Amino acid sequence: MPRIPADEALIAGEWRRGAGAPADTVDPATGRVIATVHAVSLDEVAEAARGAAEAAADPRWRDLLPHRRALLLHRVAELIEESTDDLAALQTADTGKALTETRALVGSAAATFRYTAAALETAEEAITPSRGDYVTLSVYEPIGVVGAINPWNSPIASDAQKLAPALAGGNAVLLKPAEWTPLVSLALGRLVTRALDELGLPAGLLSVLTGRGSLVGDAIVRDPHVGKVTFTGGTSTGRTLAHAAAEKLMPLSLELGGKSPTVVLADADVEQALAGVMFGIFSSSGQSCIAGSRLFVARELYEEFVGELVERVRKLRVGPGTDPDTQVAPLVHHRHRDSVAAYVDLAREEGARVLCGGGVPQGPAYRDGAYYLPTVLDGLPNSSRTCQEEIFGPVLVALPFDDEDDLVRQANSSVYGLACGIWTRDHRAAWRIARRVDAGTVWINTYKQFSIATPFGGMKESGLGREKGRDGIRAYQRQKSLYWGVADAPLPWAN
Ligand code: NAP
Repeated sequence: MPRIPADEALIAGEWRRGAGAPADTVDPATGRVIATVHAVSLDEVAEAARGAAEAAADPRWRDLLPHRRALLLHRVAELIEESTDDLAALQTADTGKALTETRALVGSAAATFRYTAAALETAEEAITPSRGDYVTLSVYEPIGVVGAINPWNSPIASDAQKLAPALAGGNAVLLKPAEWTPLVSLALGRLVTRALDELGLPAGLLSVLTGRGSLVGDAIVRDPHVGKVTFTGGTSTGRTLAHAAAEKLMPLSLELGGKSPTVVLADADVEQALAGVMFGIFSSSGQSCIAGSRLFVARELYEEFVGELVERVRKLRVGPGTDPDTQVAPLVHHRHRDSVAAYVDLAREEGARVLCGGGVPQGPAYRDGAYYLPTVLDGLPNSSRTCQEEIFGPVLVALPFDDEDDLVRQANSSVYGLACGIWTRDHRAAWRIARRVDAGTVWINTYKQFSIATPFGGMKESGLGREKGRDGIRAYQRQKSLYWGVADAPLPWAN
């Protein structure tokens, strides 16, 4: 068993039990409760926001030059790396994910803090061309207090992706993890607290506020001290937040859902494409915003490719995240497993052929866990609900296409525009399709590879704004223009 953090939220620099309702967090591999975590109350959200505003304005932080701020990020990166085993085991227990994956996510969280520290130290401001007797400067300043709201699927990586640039930008942060998976964010909060303490920085720079989104998350978004919200989660929640942000005319960034097309052209390297398609949808048990959940195969290759794919999917090893041989781990929660199962029932009603999977695995090893078999469906039009709605589980729907125009029309016939994969040896075709498809990220002959140096975000209903990259910090700052008069004479009009 991993070390379980105490039932304490971090409120304006103080660790204490939240005054709100308790909620159990469950290991989805066993169904056992691993911890009970109290939510914070609405008064405590307000207290955390006030504390964050004070911390952001504290001269120890406000006046710290960027290269000194970077020291905090470097120290957090070190502490994360030193705690890799604990953090990975904790996230596996809380989310069900395979240990190999959670270890990689911890590594990526540490790398995010390091990269952001380097970007911070090398970020430049501009002297813009002068058009008069003045010098013009364009500079960046902190927003103040940032609300960061995350889903349950990859907590440590999503937390790092928001915390590192928000702190780098000179802000204080109110972090709200998902109610189903608060543990790793609480553990990360302890590491940040330690780093702040070691460097003599205000403790209120980070609050970790546990509890339900409709209460605690909503209170963060509406709090008058909060000047920006960065959200990752479902599209309908994102839309709700956008309405609340509009009331305050507050900037927000949204990383939302997807129904990403993976495309196999007739000339693809079939071995690579098979491995890539399976990894794209079934790794993380399909609980990934960028999961390649709609498979488009050239009609002449369709029967052969999908037939071989199904043979291989049947052999994927389903098991607990703690087993190093596991490829498909349990889903995050039994309630989520039921929602995935309901989608496959809907697919059957819509007339789908279930080529493999389509149910829970049988046997005592699976009895108590939130398992679902990797599933391949076909026989549905792209307009069906199964092809249009995000299932967020190990469910792939396959469709044939006739030519490039037909493919692009079907791929873009979706409210989402998050990602796309293209498998082909024809680099010209890859280029044409990549440029025509509505997707924030396109992978060509690879899938689900991520670099913190490369901006990420969605088009259409998959999101607003971009995270990562050197400019990622700018999303957490306000731009200001300065005009510095250098004339000897007074301004002519007033004279
Ligand atoms: P969700 O239901 O939208 O929840 C996300 C977070 O928002 C949770 O912390 C949730 O709290 C909170 N929340 C819910 N209602 C809220 C409200 N009215 N005000 C403020 N906060 C609120 O999403 P999910 O089911 O956890 O996560 C799955 C979704 O995330 C999928 O659609 C997936 O595609 C998307 N996702 C996108 C990306 C990306 O980068 N584009 C990455 C990962 C996941 P509670 O759940 O604790 O109540």
